[in-house]
Amino acid sequence: MVVLRPLSFACPKCGSRDVLYSCSPSCCFNHVCSQCYATFEPETRRVGEFTSELGPLPDVDTTGPTAPCARCGEYRLFRVDGDSVRPDQVLCVSCRALLSLELVEVGE
Ligand SMILES: [Zn+2]
Ligand SMILES: [Zn+2]
Repeated sequence: MVVLRPLSFACPKCGSRDVLYSCSPSCCFNHVCSQCYATFEPETRRVGEFTSELGPLPDVDTTGPTAPCARCGEYRLFRVDGDSVRPDQVLCVSCRALLSLELVEVGE
């Protein structure tokens, strides 16, 4: 069994993890860094399939970082603590895709 953690990623400009999601999934996935005010959007790519047993879902802060699944479009993505998943990969709990996450559209 693996432990799921809320999604988090570092600002591509200053490296801070103090990143806020200020919009809503029906609009866009634009995030803002509360240290340097850089904006960016996460983009995912499917890299595999998760087949192990899932632990309980953690509580999710709605202002915390989030990203859309490249396969099903849902935004229930989590980081995974466990040996079956690389630390740079995230998991979609809706369709169980393993995804790599990239930050794009970086702006001031
Ligand atoms: Zn920053
Ligand atoms: Zn999915």
